[in-house]
Amino acid sequence: MSTVAVPELRERFWERYSLEEMTDAEWEALCDGCGQCCQIKLEDPDSGERAITDVVCRLMDTTTARCSDYDNRFSRVPECLQLSRDKLEEYSWLPNSCAYRRLYEHRALAGWHPLRAGSDRRMREKGISVAGRVYSEANVTDAQLDDHIIAILPIAPSFR
Ligand code: SF4
Repeated sequence: MSTVAVPELRERFWERYSLEEMTDAEWEALCDGCGQCCQIKLEDPDSGERAITDVVCRLMDTTTARCSDYDNRFSRVPECLQLSRDKLEEYSWLPNSCAYRRLYEHRALAGWHPLRAGSDRRMREKGISVAGRVYSEANVTDAQLDDHIIAILPIAPSFR
């Protein structure tokens, strides 16, 4: 029988430790895999207005919302951003549902979050995951992106 090592997560670590105090495994476990951060955003250089599209990074498997080459994503997609503890204040574009944003803003982890709910079933029922609702940028031209805008973001979003 083969076994897979499961990283140790401290009990309800998201309530007991700050983002800075979490282990790397706990930090990674906060990601619910919704895929919303992989949606392509557009910004008007004049007005600063930002829009979100239903087009996602070419590495995403759009049926699962998971990265198809997570280990090599930075070499294959240089513009892919790694969320890090010391730069969270820069990530105002993260969705309100994102665990990193919620904890940074001193909000509780949502009840549907897999860490609290025990699986991703409730997250999927809530429509948090983009799985099955997005298009790969591999199949969309730059000229078509405007037709894929699904929401306008605030010009100067408050992140706190
Ligand atoms: S938006 Fe947040 S929770 Fe969702 S995939 Fe991105 S980092 Fe993970």
